[in-house]
Amino acid sequence: MRAYNFSAGPAVLPLPVLEQARDELIEWRGGASVMEVSHRGRDFMAVAERAEADLRDLLAIPSNYRVLFMQGGATIQFAAVPMNLAAAGAPADYVHTGHWSERAIKEGRRFVSAAVIADEAESAYTTVPDRAQVQPRRGSAYLHYTPNETIGGVEFPYVPEAGDVPLVADMSSTILSRPIEVSRFGLIYAGAQKNIGPSGIAVVIVRDDLARGARPGTPSVLDYRAVAEAGSMLNTPPTFAWYFAGLVFQWLKREGGVAEMARRNRAKAAALYAAIEASSFYSSPVAKHCRSWMNVPFRLAKPDLEQTFLAEADDAGLTHLAGHRSVGGMRASLYNAMPIEGVHALVGFMADFERRYG
Ligand SMILES: *Cc1c(COP(=O)(O)O)cnc(C)c1O
Repeated sequence: MRAYNFSAGPAVLPLPVLEQARDELIEWRGGASVMEVSHRGRDFMAVAERAEADLRDLLAIPSNYRVLFMQGGATIQFAAVPMNLAAAGAPADYVHTGHWSERAIKEGRRFVSAAVIADEAESAYTTVPDRAQVQPRRGSAYLHYTPNETIGGVEFPYVPEAGDVPLVADMSSTILSRPIEVSRFGLIYAGAQKNIGPSGIAVVIVRDDLARGARPGTPSVLDYRAVAEAGSMLNTPPTFAWYFAGLVFQWLKREGGVAEMARRNRAKAAALYAAIEASSFYSSPVAKHCRSWMNVPFRLAKPDLEQTFLAEADDAGLTHLAGHRSVGGMRASLYNAMPIEGVHALVGFMADFERRYG
């Protein structure tokens, strides 16, 4: 019996995709597993090409952007971005909205002169800065921000205006959850394990002029130009993760693409936030205008009941609802593969729990 898995990442994957991967696990094209064949062979090359084509299609990625499949998760992009987009010690701007942007800033400081142009510390990272506050400095190498903070559950309701400064977005926990206008970004990156597939691979969507060669000293596997020229196969890629991501892209297309995902994700988030709002037993720490569709943190009016809540939820088949260890409370992640039925089950459980303990 599969539970409704609200894990923040690695996270729920679409059941039809898991079933397809299971059916193909041992004998895939030509009688071997996809994990057992060369990444440079015809069969895997076809997988790689189709995955890129489908992702381009899903996000309407313009032709002047390269799509890279890289290793090292989103975390290595915290370093790869400055190494590719900025000279050593050059100015680069960051927006600080919580845990993941802080990690990007800390790593960025090893490579650039990073300025935090907006910091939501005063709100304890429960909101995002106003549009007008997010202004990059003239001559900055890039402006980095985190459209969705996976731990804090705050999400930008707008795309910052960066003018001539390339806008860089860590979309790890929001990519493919809705349509985006890729041309507004210089670079988008995302670790796979939230909304794309298994961990072990990351997607980078980078405008041509930002992939013209990294600074001296950059390892070739982190140099966007070198990776692009090698078709993301400078070395052996994580073939299973890439294959699986490709199956997820096909599933997304069959389901109606990112516009349909947006419709479903909006409805799922609305149902859960409505339940939280309707009760004085549950509360959301996040400002209303920037509540995430993907990661919904919430608290109990009686925090000493948290462990009971989590244990009973688990027994009811609603799993991985504990908030990040740094913040506590609860968090329900509602990625594309979480069906609305899972949210209804959670809302029903919450109402029942409140009746019994409220
Ligand atoms: C999970 C996450 C990361 C880290 O991803 P790794 O693949 O573990 O490096 C970075 N940024 C955001 C927004 C995330 O959600």
